[in-house]
Amino acid sequence: MSEQIIKIGNHELVHITEVRELRRQLAEANEYARKLSIKVTDQGVEIQRLKSELEIAAKISDVCKRQEVELQHSRDEMVKLQRKRDAGDLLFEELDDKTPEPNCSCFIFPPCSDCANHASSRYALDEWKEANK
Ligand SMILES: [Zn+2]
Repeated sequence: MSEQIIKIGNHELVHITEVRELRRQLAEANEYARKLSIKVTDQGVEIQRLKSELEIAAKISDVCKRQEVELQHSRDEMVKLQRKRDAGDLLFEELDDKTPEPNCSCFIFPPCSDCANHASSRYALDEWKEANK
């Protein structure tokens, strides 16, 4: 091993082997710093990627929320519609029970009393049947 010495500052003499060791450590430290810097850069890139993913997820979440609201609105409308239909069915049953079979005699004296009394009920019943086939 070399016993060469060098001067550092104005007071210390250091074995060249120590200088080499210091240089090696410095190089190691630089390498470590370089790797850390790469890691930090990689993490920066990863953070950017995660941010974009979060933004996309937030947008998807917004769309889902809007669809949820629309879906709820549709459900409410369907419930209302079903109630109207149920009520219509009740009205249909009531009117159907109260409306006799046609017994038209308009060929004698139009409009006959059967038509005068029941034609509009029969028309309403037919319309309901047609709309609810
Ligand atoms: Zn008639």
